[in-house]
Amino acid sequence: MIALDIIKPNARASRKFKELEFYDANPDDKYYLLPFRFIRLNQEKEIIVNEVGDFLVVPTGTVEKIVSRRISKLTDEELYGDLISGFFISEERIPALLEVLATRYRTKKSFLDNFTSLHIFVITLRCEHTCHYCQVSRVSEDKNTFDMKKHHIDKGIELMMQSPNPNVTMEFQGGEALLAFDQIIYAVQKAKEEALHYDKKVTFVICTNLAPLNESILSFCRENNILISTSLDGPENIHNQNRHKKGKDSYQLAVQGISKCREFLGNDRVSALLTTSTLSLDYPTEIVDEYFSLNFNSIFLRPISPFGFAVRNEKKNKYDTNRFLEFYKIALNRIIDYNLQGYFFREDYATIILRKILTPFPVGYVDLQSPAGMINNVIVFNYDGKIYASDEARMLAEMKDTTFLLGDLDTSTYQDIFYGEKVFQLAESWTNESLPGCSECAFQAYCGTDPVLNHATQGDIFGYRPTSVFCQKNMEIIRYLFELMDSDKRIFKIFNSWVRN
Ligand code: SF4
Repeated sequence: MIALDIIKPNARASRKFKELEFYDANPDDKYYLLPFRFIRLNQEKEIIVNEVGDFLVVPTGTVEKIVSRRISKLTDEELYGDLISGFFISEERIPALLEVLATRYRTKKSFLDNFTSLHIFVITLRCEHTCHYCQVSRVSEDKNTFDMKKHHIDKGIELMMQSPNPNVTMEFQGGEALLAFDQIIYAVQKAKEEALHYDKKVTFVICTNLAPLNESILSFCRENNILISTSLDGPENIHNQNRHKKGKDSYQLAVQGISKCREFLGNDRVSALLTTSTLSLDYPTEIVDEYFSLNFNSIFLRPISPFGFAVRNEKKNKYDTNRFLEFYKIALNRIIDYNLQGYFFREDYATIILRKILTPFPVGYVDLQSPAGMINNVIVFNYDGKIYASDEARMLAEMKDTTFLLGDLDTSTYQDIFYGEKVFQLAESWTNESLPGCSECAFQAYCGTDPVLNHATQGDIFGYRPTSVFCQKNMEIIRYLFELMDSDKRIFKIFNSWVRN
């Protein structure tokens, strides 16, 4: 629910809305309601959240007292002060410091200021793994069919240079990106030349399973300051069952590769991503322990994308969100235990949400932001020259669903791709401020939208919140983070350390 102060005078009575006077301060209580949303945390507590994500955890029944003007400046002095300073209520119809709130709102949304930063180049679709959850890869030696052509790389770079963002990221994905290492060399050199001309800073990332890694690749990565992002699904038995490879040595190659990357490039130049298969759900503690023992200082507990090739094998990859949430909570508590023992070790998804809850800063994480990350923060240039709104959008296209196809590298202009008719249609669904269900949700400021997931799972880019897996997951994770912070001050301190490091 959202509580609003109605400013328009002389509104006509209707059965839907209260009379204007209902919202006015009366001479005894003297306060006006500002926009805020609220939700029950548990039986004893509720959370109220203002427009910029500032929150108060208060005893159940407090919201009812606030809106019925039963909070008194004299008898509820502390709460009254918190409500005034947090812009939940105001003693004037328009608060004198309203501009401060507006500035903070602009700051929170400033991840939009520079537009698209992440440019994904699907440099090849070839791969030597056959992971059962993979949405895209092709086991094939046919370079001509499945590698990105040089003229497409050139055009992708040309479009990347037209982004208004002075800092862009060029991320190479596959298939297995290192199988097309010649294309990567070409693309990095070309992008560096163009960046000089356009005065841009380019960050390079290679997403790889590390199996084809060798010293000449590492040297090139070191010379060009390239970051490595790899996959690690946990201990050897889980990783190798998820990530099939001839010889069953995927885990060994990943772990050896991580260690070589650290040695050559530095500890902070390689990161790993977890994909949670049905098998993984039974091993939350072991997976966390694996990351901890390999000296990672974080782990990203990611559910599988519930669509496309990933769920072709339903038994292995399709699971109920409740099961993921159980897994997530056990794993998160294990991570918190490490922190209570004095180690710095954080969960990345929680950290993204906690940054939104505990800091005034913008957080532009593409899968959890409003407006959505697609196009605003990420664009995908596929190996075959097609351009998609996000990584998940190109995975859908592999299933012959081209709803999020924006154009192609042969014929489309920057204007066609980023400001075309398709983008205007998608824009109607990409802000949670205007989506049914989200518009009145207390967690709106911490959550985001995902039109691709809505389309893939519910057949509608707007989605339907009561049965949305995106909503179910985020609602419960955000609620749980609040519950943990509220129940133990040590956890509140730990969470603060995660967002400030
Ligand atoms: S998706 Fe769910 S949790 Fe997120 S803002 Fe919308 S209603 Fe709230």
